[in-house]
Amino acid sequence: MSGHLAVVGLGPGDARYLTPEADGALAAAEALYGYGSYLDRVPVRAGQRRHGSDNREERARAIAALRDAAAGTRVAVVSGGDPGVFAMAAAVCEEIEAGPDSWRALDIAIVPGITAMLAVAARIGAPLGHDFCALSLSDNLKPWGLVEQRIDAAASAGFVMALYNPISRARPWQFGAAIERLRRRLPGTTPVVFGHAVGRPDEHVSVTTLAAADTADADMATLIIVGSRETRVVQRSGRAPLVYTPRAVAEVSA
Ligand code: SAH
Repeated sequence: MSGHLAVVGLGPGDARYLTPEADGALAAAEALYGYGSYLDRVPVRAGQRRHGSDNREERARAIAALRDAAAGTRVAVVSGGDPGVFAMAAAVCEEIEAGPDSWRALDIAIVPGITAMLAVAARIGAPLGHDFCALSLSDNLKPWGLVEQRIDAAASAGFVMALYNPISRARPWQFGAAIERLRRRLPGTTPVVFGHAVGRPDEHVSVTTLAAADTADADMATLIIVGSRETRVVQRSGRAPLVYTPRAVAEVSA
C-alpha cells in the first residue's frame, strides 16, 4: 500500500502562520481536499488536483480522501487552524475506524497548525496562562443540554474558556444563551475577548466584560475567550490593554 494521507492545519489565516512542515505537506500532495475557502488559501501548483466541498460535508470529504489515498494517491486534507481541533483529523479517524481494513494500512500524518484560541490569545496578552478549556458551541454534533452542562462545569471549576463556533445562520441563539448562563455563574467584571478573523485582513480583537459583552459582536469567524476569576486586564496608555491569567492561583475560589 503506497497511499499517503496528510491532514494539514493551515493556521488561522495568513501564510505567516503556516508551519514549514504544513507547507511541505501541501507541496508534496498530488490531490487536495477541503472546504472551498480553506483550499483558496493554498497556492495553486501544477499537476495537483483540488477537490473543494461545502463546510458541512466533512464525512463525505474524509471518505473521498481516504478512497483516493487507498488508490495510491498522495493526498492532503486541509483544515483551518489545527486539524485536530473541531476539524478534519477526527473526521478522518472516524472513517478509518468504521471503514475497510485497507484504510488502516495507509500512511496517515496529522500536521498541526496554530489553532484560533492560541492566535487570539497571543494578540491580547496571555489569557490562557493558567488552566483553560476549549468548547465548541455548535450543537450540530451534540445536544445543547450537554453544552450547557459543560459551560456550568467549566465556570464552577474556574477554567478560562475558549469558545469556538459561537454562532451561525443555523444556530442564531446559542451564543446568547451561553453568555446568559455564564452571567449567572461568573462576576460581571470577568474579562471577555472577542477575536474576529485573526490573522486575516479583516482581523478585529476587542476586550469587554461579561456584563457588557454584546452577542452581536460574534460571527462564524470569531473566537471568544471568557476569563476566570483570576484573569486580569492591564490598561496601558495609548496601547491596547493586556489581558492575562496569572500562572499561580492562591486558593480555591468558589
Ligand atoms: N480547526 C480550527 C477550528 C474550526 S471550528 C482551529 O483550530 O482554529 C471554526 C471556529 O474556529 C470558528 O467558528 C471560530 O470560532 C474559530 N476560528 C477559526 N479561525 C479563526 C480566526 N482566524 N479568528 C478567530 N476565530 C477563528
